[in-house]
Amino acid sequence: QCASVCPVGAITEKDDTDLVWHALTDPKKHVIVQVAPAVRVSLGEEVNQAIGTIVTGKMVTAMKILGFDQVFDTDFTADLTIIEEGNELIQRVTNGGILPMMTSCCPGWISYAEQRYPDILDHISSCKSPQQMFGALAKSYYPQKAGLDPKDVFVVSVMPCTAKKYEAKREEMSVDENSPDIDVVLTTRELGKMIKQMGINFENLKETPFDSPFGITTGAAAIFGATGGVMEAAIRTVYEVVNKKPLESLDFKELRGLEGIKEAEVNLGGSMVKVAVAHTLSMAKVLCDQVREGTSPYAFIEIMTCPGGCIGGGGQPYGTTNKVRQERIDSTYRLDASMTLRKSHENPEVIALYKDFLKEPLGELSHHLLHTHYSDRKNK
Ligand code: SF4
Repeated sequence: QCASVCPVGAITEKDDTDLVWHALTDPKKHVIVQVAPAVRVSLGEEVNQAIGTIVTGKMVTAMKILGFDQVFDTDFTADLTIIEEGNELIQRVTNGGILPMMTSCCPGWISYAEQRYPDILDHISSCKSPQQMFGALAKSYYPQKAGLDPKDVFVVSVMPCTAKKYEAKREEMSVDENSPDIDVVLTTRELGKMIKQMGINFENLKETPFDSPFGITTGAAAIFGATGGVMEAAIRTVYEVVNKKPLESLDFKELRGLEGIKEAEVNLGGSMVKVAVAHTLSMAKVLCDQVREGTSPYAFIEIMTCPGGCIGGGGQPYGTTNKVRQERIDSTYRLDASMTLRKSHENPEVIALYKDFLKEPLGELSHHLLHTHYSDRKNK
């Protein structure tokens, strides 16, 4: 499945479950885990649930049984990404910065851009992905708040993605050069394997909420898992911040679904701004060529490597067809619609994080922990 889409050398799958079992049995380690948005609508397929079943609460319970000390939600740092990335976009638009801005949460796309389009790297948002924003906080803010030595905190990610294993190993992704921010990345399939190895009867599990302080999330974060989701989440926040009034409808249906390239227009401060979304690298190429030639009509572009976005990622349960992708996408938007909070800037835990720790979006600490840079890797 991954071989056709995975551009970053993560094609040969590496099983890291032993590393996690080892950490979980080490009494000196405080082992925490984050789970990506797309995992909760696909893990069920690994444990005999119908395709598209939303398994969030049971998944958290299963991970508690596996022995994780705290189970956190990557959706929290997806919300944080929207605050940082949204403000970066506003800054670029208002200060005559480089446009279009392009999203940065997909390591497959980043690797492709570094190898094939090194001349347009300035267009890519400097925001780290939600996985890496979580890692940076997990080794700084979290130990401080929990009274732990950062060296004792072992951070595991569960991702729909094989390329995330590579992303976590990039040296610019670690705040401390001697220790990675994310210690191990597991795929959805690997988490399914651990649940089966433990003999957990998933069907009969009770539901457990995520732990605090990275547990409250919004519908905007939930849709990160589907192609178009990051863009829709960003528009919900950028529109309200710039126009200082609530959006009439939060649903940007023109950005949803499996069409190759999707577009929308948004009124920002009285000017109509065009945005675009592409999934798969062949569609990304169309938009990248326009950017390279200086003919792109867009202000903001979302690119995801995998067909359908992360719900169709290389670490997801095998047998992904377009029908399966659509079922996972439908569940993703159902989840969004069911949530009380649907805009990232209304997440109270994110607001508290800025108040207590980061102070302001794009501030000094945010730049140090949450932003990164890219390099020309054409000949690498
Ligand atoms: Fe990974 Fe998602 Fe990018 Fe696929 S689209 S490579 S699953 S981050």
